[in-house]
Amino acid sequence: MSDYDVIVVGAGNAALAAAVSARESGATKTVVLEKAPKDMRGGNTHWSGGLLRIAFNSVEDLDELVPEAEKDFPGFRGGIEPYKAEDFWDDLLRVTGGRTDRELAEIVISNSYDTICWMHKHAGIPMEPAFSLGGIRKGDVIKWPKGAIIRAEHEGVGLSKHWFLAAERDGIEVRYNTGAQELLVDGSGAVYGVSVKNPEGIKKLTAKSVVLACGGFEANQQWRAQYLGKPWDHAKVRGTRYNQGDGLRMALNIGAMAYGNWSSCHSTPISAEWDDFAPRDLTNKSNRLSYPWGVMINLKGLRFCDEGEDFQFFTYARYGRVILDQPNSKVWQIYDQKTVHLLEPRYETSDPVTGGTLEELIGKLDIEDKEQALRTLQDYNAAAHSDENFDPSELDGLAANGISPKKSNWAIKIDKPPFVAYSATGGITFTFGGLRINDKAQVIGVDWQPINGLFCAGEMVGGLFHNNYPGGTGLVSGAVFGRIAGRNAAFGVN
Ligand SMILES: Cc1cc2nc3c(=O)[nH]c(=O)nc-3n(C[C@H](O)[C@H](O)[C@H](O)COP(=O)(O)OP(=O)(O)OC[C@H]3O[C@@H](n4cnc5c(N)ncnc54)[C@H](O)[C@@H]3O)c2cc1C
Repeated sequence: MSDYDVIVVGAGNAALAAAVSARESGATKTVVLEKAPKDMRGGNTHWSGGLLRIAFNSVEDLDELVPEAEKDFPGFRGGIEPYKAEDFWDDLLRVTGGRTDRELAEIVISNSYDTICWMHKHAGIPMEPAFSLGGIRKGDVIKWPKGAIIRAEHEGVGLSKHWFLAAERDGIEVRYNTGAQELLVDGSGAVYGVSVKNPEGIKKLTAKSVVLACGGFEANQQWRAQYLGKPWDHAKVRGTRYNQGDGLRMALNIGAMAYGNWSSCHSTPISAEWDDFAPRDLTNKSNRLSYPWGVMINLKGLRFCDEGEDFQFFTYARYGRVILDQPNSKVWQIYDQKTVHLLEPRYETSDPVTGGTLEELIGKLDIEDKEQALRTLQDYNAAAHSDENFDPSELDGLAANGISPKKSNWAIKIDKPPFVAYSATGGITFTFGGLRINDKAQVIGVDWQPINGLFCAGEMVGGLFHNNYPGGTGLVSGAVFGRIAGRNAAFGVN
């Protein structure tokens, strides 16, 4: 007789989706193991912006999730364009260079809307429009970045809190300070439990099925150096310190198949002022993603990327790495008074450096080659345009050509003082490499057969994301596969 029907390892979005789904599917004895203490619970999910990328066919679909949105944000409905499954596909294929696993991507995209409605209705997770992330008021409507409109109310903090409330409501036991260390495997090769370490020591817990949903290896300095290479061991971590690759190690140790882009990760431009681990109370407020409205220069005084290549949701997960590769892994973002009002509210967590002239501003920054920095800004201004046709709500085609790198959109002159500068470095969010799973969220072994009794969801799933990622897809993938894993773990699919 097993201790539990289902053991879920981890307590983030994917794990709690799995636990609630397992309980809904009849697993009366479901336990969630959380390595972190209660006051640090919830993994990256707690730190996240709570943004949920979903495919939907009409604005009416969103009424299910945010019925009061038009009242709270007048113009909400008028500026929404449907984001059909084809649009989600286009974005995922484009940003991953066509490498996303087709079978997994189809499952995520086709279940995205239904799963988020399930989170809302069944798990009781309130939703809200993600206005501060990308909504831009244009006349009497709000223009939304396609597909990135809905988020959990109060972002990751609200998402995590409501997942734990749902688990409590469903009578799901949560064991804190309890890290899984090893998977227990019987003579047939099936997983029948885990050994765990808690303050009392090490013990074995048995179950009919185990769901691994305990994150990637982003907080593990050695694995970062090993798999991502230099200078990733020095990257600042944007989320939890508990995602050390434990679940991946445990699964690989029993013959699970590694899958996906192990040499890459999600990383974003964050303030260079922050510590090695982002403070829990400031969650995702370290992000510095408004670079399309200005330029970025490194400590040699040079621009190094096309700040206006696309909307930030399609470049930010790549540009963290690009910034980390700059000298001393630090750059400056420069804006003037024509665009400073467009900066995301989270810039308020830093005080900018300001200057009445570009010379004065550059003089205050720790740039090694200040003459070059000034020349870079002058060359940019010579190639850039007036703000007459500037339109931050769409790819406006205002390109600064003839400079390297060019800026493809929103290239308007930086000439209205006072000028402001915010520091940025590359912060690691989560790793892309993971385990191979099938459409039932079963973990596949190196013999290409499912490992009986073992399921996986969330950041631990490999194959979906390669080099880049469309913002808001991590939580949706975690919820979709968490729900599937929980259901199949409860039914004992083998
Ligand atoms: C700052 C930030 C902002 C983000 N914003 C967004 C966003 O807006 N939209 C989006 O889609 N994605 C976002 N992401 C990514 C998103 O947070 C992750 O993709 C998602 O939360 C991963 O969920 P998960 O359940 O797989 O892992 P996590 O939420 O990280 O949960 C992992 C859990 O496993 C636990 N754990 C680890 N090891 C063990 C062990 N051995 N035993 C037991 N428990 C263990 C951890 O303590 C934690 O509870 C963001 C991430 C960060 C860091």
